[in-house]
Amino acid sequence: MHFQTEALHAGYEKDTQSTMAVPIYMSTAYEFRDVEHAADLFALKELGNIYTRLNNPTTDVFEKRFAALEGGAAALATASGMSAIFYAIANAAEAGDNIVCASQLYGGSLTLFSHSLKRFGIEARYFDVQDPQSLEALIDDKTKVIFFETLTNPSIDVANIAAITAIANKYDILSVVDNTVATPALCQPFNHGVDIVVHSASKYTTGQGLAIGGIMVERKGLVEKLRGNMRYAHFNEPDASYHGLVYVDVPLPVYTLRARISLLRDLGAVSSPFNSWLFIQGLETLSLRMKEHSHNALRLAEFLENHPKVAVVNYPGLPSNQNYENAQRYFANGQSSGLLSFVVSDFEQAKAIVDATKLFSLVVNIGDSKSIITHPASTTHQQLSPDELDACGVPAGLIRLSAGLENVADLIADLKQALEA
Ligand code: PLP
Repeated sequence: MHFQTEALHAGYEKDTQSTMAVPIYMSTAYEFRDVEHAADLFALKELGNIYTRLNNPTTDVFEKRFAALEGGAAALATASGMSAIFYAIANAAEAGDNIVCASQLYGGSLTLFSHSLKRFGIEARYFDVQDPQSLEALIDDKTKVIFFETLTNPSIDVANIAAITAIANKYDILSVVDNTVATPALCQPFNHGVDIVVHSASKYTTGQGLAIGGIMVERKGLVEKLRGNMRYAHFNEPDASYHGLVYVDVPLPVYTLRARISLLRDLGAVSSPFNSWLFIQGLETLSLRMKEHSHNALRLAEFLENHPKVAVVNYPGLPSNQNYENAQRYFANGQSSGLLSFVVSDFEQAKAIVDATKLFSLVVNIGDSKSIITHPASTTHQQLSPDELDACGVPAGLIRLSAGLENVADLIADLKQALEA
């Protein structure tokens, strides 16, 4: 079925009350029919609800719907995008291993990889997403994951997905991609050889800045990459923490299964049923919203490109942008999502423009229905010197925008008065 139809129906079979809206099942636990039923559920002989840290009927609909929208086999909802990213990696890597990552990543992913994972004994090695071939030299027999973002935040690069997954597949290494900014409405990474997709549901999924959440999705047929692949011995050998279960022998999507019955069980960063319900509401309108976010961002980018105070505009939907070709190749109808940035002369000018806007809110978030403006040099990147800012592609005069769903004429008028104040 088509994306718009799946977004409204996938994963929900009406409950006993025949409610049109998916019910919110606020329940910590579930009653077993009898002891044998309980034992069968724990032994995975029968699938069903046990305890909301492991599964929940509302979250189950969110997971099934998201998996359908990504064209995947199964999904695992988590408490945040960060926990989805952590689980996707911790499911593959342990102390002594390494991961190879694009250096153009969300700042939280960079600190997770460079600092927290390092303390767990997992090394992060970085490659330039604009030079995918350079990642091959970083791979060794301890490499467990190749990680990148389809549309990067905040640098706004578009990855050459097929070039990266070709290298991952050459070495039978799992590729994990963060598809938060592009969303499955614009980009379908599984069609280009990706193994696992992760998202912050806090952005375009909720769509209105309502809740923090995350999700990890596994592609169909992933077990074949894991079976007999001793890079991932723990999927092929008995799991002592789950009565000797050998994951590749279980007839279920095994990457999700292990993340659920091992990581979610032990670490517990579970999605609240209420948040899962909010994300279901968001998915219903995702494709409509992404069309409008993309349209508004393109109009803003065109306006900025023609303004004398603006030195550079970064938006992959502009034919002048270095990422235009990849955006046309990987994104539906070339729609390039709502994230753009532009550079003015210096720190002080950027600060004045941000302060002069009235409709844009000064917020460190993206993907809200309301437009957002951010000045990285005074917030997320304030510790860096001017030279360091230039080196990581975030000059002091850079302003990032997340185009919302307001009428774009009002957004342009607001930027114009701020630039000319
Ligand atoms: N991935 C990307 C691309 C993000 O922009 C963010 C947050 O801004 C995250 C992951 C982390 O998500 P969360 O804030 O839901 O933990």
